Amino acid sequence: LPFSTLPLHPDLLHNLVSIGYESMTPIQAESLPHMLAGKDLIAQGKTGSGKTAAFGLGLLSRLDAGRSQVQALVLCPTRELADQVANELRKLARRLANIKVLTLCGGMPLRAQIASLEHGAHIIVGTPGRIEDHLGRGTLKLDRLSVLVLDEADRMLEMGFQSALDVIIAQTPRARQTLLFSATFPAQIQSIAGRIMRDPVQVRV
Ligand code: AMP
Repeated sequence: LPFSTLPLHPDLLHNLVSIGYESMTPIQAESLPHMLAGKDLIAQGKTGSGKTAAFGLGLLSRLDAGRSQVQALVLCPTRELADQVANELRKLARRLANIKVLTLCGGMPLRAQIASLEHGAHIIVGTPGRIEDHLGRGTLKLDRLSVLVLDEADRMLEMGFQSALDVIIAQTPRARQTLLFSATFPAQIQSIAGRIMRDPVQVRV
């Protein structure tokens, strides 16, 4: 199915052509119509399925570039994944003017992150511990967030990030859109989904 069947911004569609994405992968075809309709979504997506572009196009469609506030947060289990996700988002956003994507991961100098935050970012990609740290310091605010993405949610829980996730999610608006991607669905994931999502659509591909 071509991306042009979706109600995406023309700049996003043109950019997909120029980066060589012609048709949607199964997870994109299954999930994007729901995301663009504003629904919460639980999706089974492994690396290689195209899940990053799936949630990336979903969240980019909801951004207001003219509003210099954090509008989307993508939580990832590791710095390596956060870097990959941020690179893919920058690639997708290339034709959208002035969208700033910032990564905030542990093991990186705090001072530089704080300086970048002061310059403003629309999208934050990061690991839960460091995001929690910034919230505690008051250097990051999530009160204007529209979209929250949990990427590889099962791995984040395995790594012990449950309490950081709880702290972070409690600081986001209730009216946000929540997108949860996970390779597996143990009871702990079902339980978190039940607590933080509203009437989610489930996608398995
Ligand atoms: P991911 O599963 O998000 O790690 O993506 C796997 C790879 O597929 C990445 O290198 C993407 O750039 C690429 N990709 C994602 N969606 C598409 C698509 N619709 N057409 C071609 N390549 C894609």
